[in-house]
Amino acid sequence: MPFLDLRHIRKEFGSFTALQDINLVIQKSEFVCFLGPSGCGKTTLLRIIAGLEVQTSGQIFQGGRDISRLPPALRDYGIVFQSYALFPNLSVFDNVSYGLVNRKAPRAEVRQRVTDLVKLVGLPGSEAKFPGQLSGGQQQRIALARALATSPGLLLLDEPLSALDALERVRLRQEIRGLQQKLGVTTIMVTHDQEEALSVADRIVVMNHGVIEQVGTPLDVYREPASPFVADFVGKVNVLPAQRVGGRLQLGGMALPSEGADGTVKVYLRPEDVLTRPIAPGDAHVFESQIEGIDFLGSYCHVHVGSPMLGSHKLTVYLSLNFLSEQSLQVGSPLILKLLPERLKVF
Ligand code: ATP
Repeated sequence: MPFLDLRHIRKEFGSFTALQDINLVIQKSEFVCFLGPSGCGKTTLLRIIAGLEVQTSGQIFQGGRDISRLPPALRDYGIVFQSYALFPNLSVFDNVSYGLVNRKAPRAEVRQRVTDLVKLVGLPGSEAKFPGQLSGGQQQRIALARALATSPGLLLLDEPLSALDALERVRLRQEIRGLQQKLGVTTIMVTHDQEEALSVADRIVVMNHGVIEQVGTPLDVYREPASPFVADFVGKVNVLPAQRVGGRLQLGGMALPSEGADGTVKVYLRPEDVLTRPIAPGDAHVFESQIEGIDFLGSYCHVHVGSPMLGSHKLTVYLSLNFLSEQSLQVGSPLILKLLPERLKVF
């Protein structure tokens, strides 16, 4: 039996349809990310699971129980929001113990649980502090401790990292993943950051305009995107127009094997799937290009190339700084490239 089962969820705000027929099954202990651009409906879906928003139609089952119409207080989850939703006038202890006190847990038990939780989120001994005395990342750690206090079956995270600086985001997302694996709590995190989703999720639900475009492991979604939208939204991609005729793809001056109907298509190609080595004499799908621009990003660079083989289209490839230095490559240098036909996605 799935832990969470969303059936035909639809949400309308007046005449606007925010979610259309969402069907999704989540297993116990999974870490699932809802990923998509602003306005695609991911927060609305999370809020419906939490009971903070009521679906126009459709059903939700959690642990086999129909929770479709249950108020939030009767559902079994903890939630962390984007902005630090701690009570500013309450200490860390009172914030974290809030749910336990509401449930009338014995005092000694509450004290022990809070001590354990603040330790778990890496802030032992912070019980007497107030939210205003904590950094953004520390506040989110306490919000996490508060969400976990009652040992909920489901942890809901609504863009919990988006207000933090880049370093803190990476640190906290790794901590959240570590904690989730340690506790085995089924977790859903909303994010619009594809790197965040790729790095923490067991499965990613890619959403666009109120529908699910694809559900899959990070590798599936990255390597086998189900639609041009997914290919474009998750990771960097080169998009090149091409013609398919009789099982051959005519891409600029090159012909590559490709199954599917004849016609005008778009070829999606990841920068790392354009190789500079190893290239042996006589290899197929090899062509000469010229470097037109280099974006220096530290240990590797985005290198933009043009080639008569590509007509007016440009490609971006990733090259390590070491490779560029070893080969003395700079803007204007020639560069031999090889395409991997099996890695091209054609839509
Ligand atoms: P973001 O990352 O910007 O929060 P999102 O994918 O989470 O985006 P939602 O917040 O779920 O998007 O909103 C989906 C759509 O529904 C948006 O077009 C939004 O304007 C609309 N919407 C959300 N809540 C309401 C509401 N209470 N009333 C009217 N429209 C709403």
